[in-house]
Amino acid sequence: MFPPRFEYVRVRSVAEAVEALTASLEGRVLAGGQSLLPLLRSHRVFADVLVDLGGVAELRGVRDEGDALWVGALTTHHEVACDPLVRVHCPLLARAAEAVADPAVRRRGTVGGALSYAAPAGDLPVAVVALGAECRVTGPDGERGVPASQFFVGEGATAMGPNEVLTGVRVPKWPGWSFHYERFSPAGRSWALTAAVAGVRPEDGRLAAARVVLGNLAPTPLRAPSVEAACAGLPVRASLMRTAARAVEADAAQGGRTVDDAEHRRGLARILAGRALIAAAGA
Ligand SMILES: Cc1cc2nc3c(=O)[nH]c(=O)nc-3n(C[C@H](O)[C@H](O)[C@H](O)COP(=O)(O)OP(=O)(O)OC[C@H]3O[C@@H](n4cnc5c(N)ncnc54)[C@H](O)[C@@H]3O)c2cc1C
Repeated sequence: MFPPRFEYVRVRSVAEAVEALTASLEGRVLAGGQSLLPLLRSHRVFADVLVDLGGVAELRGVRDEGDALWVGALTTHHEVACDPLVRVHCPLLARAAEAVADPAVRRRGTVGGALSYAAPAGDLPVAVVALGAECRVTGPDGERGVPASQFFVGEGATAMGPNEVLTGVRVPKWPGWSFHYERFSPAGRSWALTAAVAGVRPEDGRLAAARVVLGNLAPTPLRAPSVEAACAGLPVRASLMRTAARAVEADAAQGGRTVDDAEHRRGLARILAGRALIAAAGA
């Protein structure tokens, strides 16, 4: 199917992109096009103007900002997965980017596209929330930062306004912490049915602190405070962490998502959270 007619604008800067969006009725940003173009062709979304960010050099790449890495919105999943700075300072992000779809999607799909698309099953949203990242957004009123924990507001919905552009994400380095990502997707499917990130800070053979975030149990990434509390102070032993992961039941109940296989997903979350904790702690 052909998409309804739209105007195509290839911009050279973020300012031009914001201007083009503001002048449109229902303009949309085009990044890698992996999600947007099929939606347009199948008439599931509409746009009078497509604002192609492909020529905006300032949105590409990864740079070291001291205590954090800056990842530009146009950086592809493949570039993130292979980037030496990401692999050293934020290996969780590399692991999440590697998990996306297949090599073709990873070479075209972008970090900004994946975060803006805000799929509950997305691999990057759960990672940036676990890493306490900040999403940088520019719009008609200037630039602002939105904590990743507040960026995702619903299934496919973000805190961005209609004329705002996600320019990148600032990801803290978390010295002394170790993170691990686990996901499960049924055979033949790329999207995760359920996913879990665990981060731990071991100290003298115990877990001084833990962060756990679950993917695809709720419309947005779900922090698991019960598991985190159950882990605090535990000796680094696989059996104990598996026990702590059972607290996922209490966290999953906060998810507020009614899907047919909710119970199956909660069971998966328990297993994935346990595995992620054990791997992160090196137990
Ligand atoms: C077959 C297939 C399998 C996939 N499997 C997975 C998977 O397993 N895990 C996973 O995480 N993802 C998966 N994806 C999605 C993949 O991550 C896409 O790359 C991503 O969703 C969209 O990125 P994009 O750069 O192509 O964005 P586009 O398709 O160009 O845009 C997607 C949406 O985001 C908006 N947008 C894009 N960039 C910006 C920006 N900088 N600022 C504001 N809005 C913006 C667009 O307007 C559009 O609404 C899959 C996609 C496909 C096609």
